[in-house]
Amino acid sequence: MAVPQRRTSKTRRDKRRTHFKLEVPGMVKCDQCEELKLSHHVCKNCGTYKGREIAAK
Ligand SMILES: [Zn+2]
Repeated sequence: MAVPQRRTSKTRRDKRRTHFKLEVPGMVKCDQCEELKLSHHVCKNCGTYKGREIAAK
């Protein structure tokens, strides 16, 4: 079984993790209520999508 020849140093480990969670989850401002929402999704706050109401709340 392949086994690492040496332990990964703290620096190397942490440098690798700088790439973690760099991806932004496509958040945009809602046209209606200025709330942050996921793009291409119905706004959770006001229940609209592309200016039309989908889920009344
Ligand atoms: Zn909204």
